[in-house]
Amino acid sequence: MAGALSPRRIAIVGAGVAGLEAARRLAVRGLEVAVFDKARRPGGRVSTRRSESHAFDHGAQYFTVRDPEFEPRVRNWCARGVAARWDARIASIGRGACERKSDSTPRFVGVPGMSALARELSLGLRLECGRRVERLEQGPGGWRVLCDDGSAFVGFDAAVVAAPAPQATALLKSHPEMARRVAGVEMQPCHAAMVAFEESPGVPFDAAFVRDSPLAWVARNASKRTPGGSAGECARDAAGCIRGGARLPTSRDAPPGRAPLALRS
Ligand SMILES: Cc1cc2nc3c(=O)[nH]c(=O)nc-3n(C[C@H](O)[C@H](O)[C@H](O)COP(=O)(O)OP(=O)(O)OC[C@H]3O[C@@H](n4cnc5c(N)ncnc54)[C@H](O)[C@@H]3O)c2cc1C
Repeated sequence: MAGALSPRRIAIVGAGVAGLEAARRLAVRGLEVAVFDKARRPGGRVSTRRSESHAFDHGAQYFTVRDPEFEPRVRNWCARGVAARWDARIASIGRGACERKSDSTPRFVGVPGMSALARELSLGLRLECGRRVERLEQGPGGWRVLCDDGSAFVGFDAAVVAAPAPQATALLKSHPEMARRVAGVEMQPCHAAMVAFEESPGVPFDAAFVRDSPLAWVARNASKRTPGGSAGECARDAAGCIRGGARLPTSRDAPPGRAPLALRS
């Protein structure tokens, strides 16, 4: 949403990978960028949650390199220890069978967790975390970013909304046509469960795609922190992340007397 022909100061709402990458690209062209996010830290759905003994990537699990332009950046991240190749033993589970998947797609993860990527993308950027943007207003002095804590940031030449569609729609009230298009984007919910085991679960895979089930994916986070698979795994590292698919399990799906796997709806 530009307010001038040559915008110099840009406000970006959303410090997920989309907002951070947009900010980085604008900043390298010499534009002054401020990134606003309601969370305490950048990353959005690229996030690692830590307890004293465990760490879980509970959003994005890994990434691949499809665009050749992205390759040198990933090589650089790997050389600097920001990312690493995840040579996981990937399985496919379904109809009572567990088969090793024989795909050779190189997968990469952030080190020590996926949130390292968000930190890397944030370097050198002006971040305004803990700011929930309530309204974007355009006036004679440019765009104003109004937050729910009463703070106002003014004088932007353009604003970029890099929030998921439902949140973006709320911010686009002054641009009804854009709001209408964004409102048409259907998002599907999913649940992520973080499960810690006393001992290694002893399964013959590091991650698995699950078919014909409310579950879509299971992963052992420990395998990410011990590159090459499970070598060196100890009980406190045996943390798993289980992601449910778009169709959420409900109490109706659970066999009598057993709780569904979803934590909450
Ligand atoms: C469980 C799960 C597993 C996934 N696994 C993978 C995977 O393995 N590989 C992969 O490539 N992708 C994966 N994805 C998808 C990937 O995580 C997302 O596509 C990507 O992170 C989205 O980035 P984004 O910047 O578009 O949005 P987000 O990450 O959602 O960022 C949007 C940001 O906007 C902020 N925001 C929203 N509204 C406001 C407001 N009003 N004011 C201020 N801030 C606001 C939010 O706090 C958030 O930080 C997974 C996603 C999930 C949920």
